[in-house]
Amino acid sequence: MRDTTRVHERALFVSPRIPSELELQARWFAGDFGKHFVSTTGDKIDIVQFGVWNREAGPDFRDAAIRINGSEPIRGCIEIDLLARSWETHGHATNPAFEATVLHVFVERTDREFFTRTESNRNVPQVCIDPSALPEVFNANVPLARPGRCQAPLRDLPEERVCSVLDASAQFRLRQKANRIRTKIDVHGRDETLFQEIGSALGYKENKLPFTLLAQRLPLRLLRENVENCEALLFGVAGFLETPDLDVYKKSARGYVRQLWDGWWPHRDDLRRLILPVKSWRASGTRPLNHPQRRLAALAILVREWSVFRRSMDSAGQFRLPSPQPSPTGRVAPFSRREKARMRAPHNFLTELEHPFWNFHYTLTSQASPKKMALIGDSRVADILANVLFPFWVAHDAEASTAPGTRLWTEYAKLPAQLSNRRLETAATRLFGNDPRRKQFLRTVAHQQGLLQIYEDFCMQDNSDCAQCPFPEQMAKWV
Ligand code: SF4
Repeated sequence: MRDTTRVHERALFVSPRIPSELELQARWFAGDFGKHFVSTTGDKIDIVQFGVWNREAGPDFRDAAIRINGSEPIRGCIEIDLLARSWETHGHATNPAFEATVLHVFVERTDREFFTRTESNRNVPQVCIDPSALPEVFNANVPLARPGRCQAPLRDLPEERVCSVLDASAQFRLRQKANRIRTKIDVHGRDETLFQEIGSALGYKENKLPFTLLAQRLPLRLLRENVENCEALLFGVAGFLETPDLDVYKKSARGYVRQLWDGWWPHRDDLRRLILPVKSWRASGTRPLNHPQRRLAALAILVREWSVFRRSMDSAGQFRLPSPQPSPTGRVAPFSRREKARMRAPHNFLTELEHPFWNFHYTLTSQASPKKMALIGDSRVADILANVLFPFWVAHDAEASTAPGTRLWTEYAKLPAQLSNRRLETAATRLFGNDPRRKQFLRTVAHQQGLLQIYEDFCMQDNSDCAQCPFPEQMAKWV
């Protein structure tokens, strides 16, 4: 029996504990398997950096870097599976999300050899790891990412210095967003640009693409010309009205769906080619309150109330005006109460959107909720302010309006951060590690944006596991 391949690889009676795939990944990331390997084809593989955990679809670790036979570092993703053949059986070979994979790590070999290919037919080197060599004790508390080399110098910097680094990179990021918006305004005009940007922000991360496509395929001008039916057109082109059977809807929704259908059918033939396929939408990973159908209804109201919204934008647009002359002490005169009320107008407009159906429904097919729900919550409005409206105002004069001390920058810098996300947490772990001030550095939108800019400019460009990253030295010189 021992000679057969079936018992060849593992002892028959004393089988070592094979960790679960998740534990395996955690131990790999913790460095328990080491950094130097030999691939299944005999190449020397060195792990330069382990990257960061990818908790979304795609390979397990992204932004990793490896060397093959001492080559220059190759940046990409690392996938870990229990079985070598999982590369094929899990469909990685045909999944575009795995295209950037540079290494496939596995525990159990397959009887036959196979080509670990990506969708573009590129071979991915494979490395076999042996969990039986691991110590039994395992600390399950694995961080999202590893603290980087800059963590130590940042910890020694006084708070104002760290804040000034974050402010500077946030100003840079805001100007970049404004430049992108300005280019778009040149092509599409102010209103269409604003509409597309808000549409895309309403899609949040999961549905950014379908919302952008919708705002491009149904431009504001066309929707305003058909303002009575704009909601039906949006739901129709979104592909949400493709079921002609009213019975699938709850009683409380039938009247509303009927109304949408009546508005959509006269246009359906003309717009058929523009209808988005159902698979463009992602509802998983989205809270019911943020379901794309609710966001779409918000976009429809925005179209109907566009002139009111634009007035609120313009009245708040005094941000763009040059700041009054600072007093001899260098302080800029604060906004008056009336000015502040005007500045909150776009915020209030978005948070106070009302819809008789969507105030009480999560989706077209869900039960009615007894409790009224906001169409766009505070955190989404804060996101729209930070990523669309402020850059839109800055697009008027990027250099002047983001300079420290100007009213626009002062107001932007005060925006409180509503939410964190995985990317931010990863960036914070890389730069601040367990610095007790970490939370307070991320309290404002500006500091979060500044941190993301540093992460993208330095961490995501680095292939040397921090060794050659210039940020720690640049920061030390920062005045
Ligand atoms: S790559 Fe640079 S910025 Fe990122 S953690 Fe390492 S030293 Fe810090």
